[in-house]
Amino acid sequence: MKGKAAFPFLFLDADWTLFDFQRSEGKALHLVFQEFGFPYDEAVHARYHEINSALWRGFELGTVDKKDLQRTRFSTLLAEQGLPGDPDAINARYLQLLADNVFLVDGAVEVCAALAERSTLLLATNGVSWTQHRRLANSELAPFFRYVATSEDAGSQKPEAGFFEYALAQVGNPDKRDVLMVGDQLSTDILGGAAAGLATCWYNPQGLPRPADAPRIDFEIRRLEELLDLA
Ligand SMILES: [Mg+2]
Repeated sequence: MKGKAAFPFLFLDADWTLFDFQRSEGKALHLVFQEFGFPYDEAVHARYHEINSALWRGFELGTVDKKDLQRTRFSTLLAEQGLPGDPDAINARYLQLLADNVFLVDGAVEVCAALAERSTLLLATNGVSWTQHRRLANSELAPFFRYVATSEDAGSQKPEAGFFEYALAQVGNPDKRDVLMVGDQLSTDILGGAAAGLATCWYNPQGLPRPADAPRIDFEIRRLEELLDLA
């Protein structure tokens, strides 16, 4: 089957690209709040999301490490809501629930199934290693990914060069022209992929405008199905 693909190797981002992270996050948060006996509503999710996003931006800039990120998102949220509890224990349970409540972006299964027929797929993610492996295993995407590169295993994260070196080594260091990096984040997936010498595809489901300082974007898609025509 191989040989017909424009890109024999596809590196695919996980969250917000293949996984419907918003839905998984809300479900896991709701469940963990229920288990700890805390009141929950959509405002809690919205505030958690703001806190967590700010911490992830710090992580991408290298100003926050992952352990701090995981503790601080819950210690901040609990303090604001006036709730008691051990943020580390809550985070640990949240990660389990996140891994067990997987929702996929529309078309992800069909698209990955078709792509895996002709290309080697690697999941390229800055997520927590244990969580991301378990989420993949719990999803219908598992049969299509022989390779997973997490930032934790790589020892560096997107957009750093070390992450892409690790991912390329996983699949046997192919010619970089044969590799397409697909993801929703310009600051990590696309910036890092372009800097590593890979072709890049920006998954932009909301049709956001391209910022003036955007990294090199070789392809842009609004639906995952469009990958079938270009990859
Ligand atoms: Mg993403």
